[in-house]
Amino acid sequence: MKTKIAQKKKPASTKKKTVEKKKPVKKPAEPSESKTQKNLRTISLLRGMKDITPKDELYWRTAYHKAEEMANAYGFEFMETPALEEAVLFTRSLGKDTDVVDKEMYVFEDRDGTRVALRPEWTAGAVRAYINHGMQSLPQPVKVWNYGAIFRHDRPQAGRFRQFHQFGCETIGQRHPCLDAELILVAYNFLKDLGIHANVNINSIGNLEDRQNYTIELVGYLRSKRSYLCENCKKRINKNPLRVLDCKEESCAEVIQESPQIIEWLGEESKTYFMKVLECLDELGIPYILKSTLVRGLDYYCDTVFEFFEDGNEEKSQNALGGGGRYDMLVEQLGGQPTPAAGFALGLERVISILRAKEDNKNLLEKPWSKVFFAQLGDQANYKALKLIEEMRLQGVIVRHNLAKASLKGQMETADKLGATHTLILGQKEVHDGTIIIRDMDSGNQEIVDQNKLIAEIKKTIKTAKPRK
Ligand code: AMP
Repeated sequence: MKTKIAQKKKPASTKKKTVEKKKPVKKPAEPSESKTQKNLRTISLLRGMKDITPKDELYWRTAYHKAEEMANAYGFEFMETPALEEAVLFTRSLGKDTDVVDKEMYVFEDRDGTRVALRPEWTAGAVRAYINHGMQSLPQPVKVWNYGAIFRHDRPQAGRFRQFHQFGCETIGQRHPCLDAELILVAYNFLKDLGIHANVNINSIGNLEDRQNYTIELVGYLRSKRSYLCENCKKRINKNPLRVLDCKEESCAEVIQESPQIIEWLGEESKTYFMKVLECLDELGIPYILKSTLVRGLDYYCDTVFEFFEDGNEEKSQNALGGGGRYDMLVEQLGGQPTPAAGFALGLERVISILRAKEDNKNLLEKPWSKVFFAQLGDQANYKALKLIEEMRLQGVIVRHNLAKASLKGQMETADKLGATHTLILGQKEVHDGTIIIRDMDSGNQEIVDQNKLIAEIKKTIKTAKPRK
């Protein structure tokens, strides 16, 4: 390697130039980074992260498409808040003693010294935006939906990542049992339309005063059973006792089962409100399970809380498909006017993992080019193909092709691998005659059609065809 020579400028008055050798500054090498081009180490994914590759495309597009369709159908409008927010937004909203804030949030100092966090959920950002954009002056409730990446430095395991995706809906500005039920309905129907039969677990955790009274009772009870609890729950007794109710450790199960039930500590208003939410669900025909230990992990929740599980798959908390509830105090806590609100979020990695395991995904979208492959042979056909493909695209027929490949055999193999139902073949003869061949990939039957009639013909041919893979 050549040593760099630095030229040091002398003051103008000095004529003589001196050349000074600068000592190369040694930067500490990255631990396993090799110095030569040949041996550069490949870079892997960070732990807990996941690539979404083209083979996952249809699952992700289907989920997004369904989320958008559902949200629109129930009058929710799209909103996306930034992935990066001031950290205090989440500590104040979710509570500093919650697992999400205390153990899982990605927090760091930005280059300008601001303490920032990658969003560990959607609700706090939605409420900040509601306040910042003066949405309280819009017709209430303001109904927004969001979709995107969420970050939690959790312990990675099946169904648990450090970057994952949530589809959520928030109804901000009014308190009414029908609104809670509507949120549950949107999430329930989203899952149902994807072919997932979900169970709704539901509970009420009352208002702040109810919860404070209940917590005193619960802490007394948990202290009396301390020796039976897991190490985590022993710590939770003082820090976040409600979280003990969520623990899935076997040792804690019996203690939790016999714990005082929050529902018995609800005031009249919360009790009546909850009964009305349940009546709405009955009216809608949504089956639900009353779960007295369901409290959700975040401080902002009040009254109705709920979670979704795939039917028959509820034994582990990391199987939850989503959850939500009311957060009537949050707007005020973040500096806005007192404004009731509620919302839900569904975890898309878990939804997609269920879809992937299914044999028949009848609602899965298709890749737009999945049915037709365009093969060409010879220079003239090559250029003509480019033009025909563009004409087809303009009229809504999307095809896959490989114009850089000369061999017809090779192109047919690609068509087969891609699962095309039909291949269009254009050779020198067809260019000359103004025709093109449509080949059925299953039967091998070929039909010669006039190029001017190609688009109408192929549209008709593929209308009912299903991609072969
Ligand atoms: P939560 O608000 O924590 O209940 O999260 C709502 C939903 O997001 C959960 O029910 C999961 O489906 C999903 N989720 C939460 N944490 C993770 C994670 N670490 N990895 C994957 N999905 C998650």
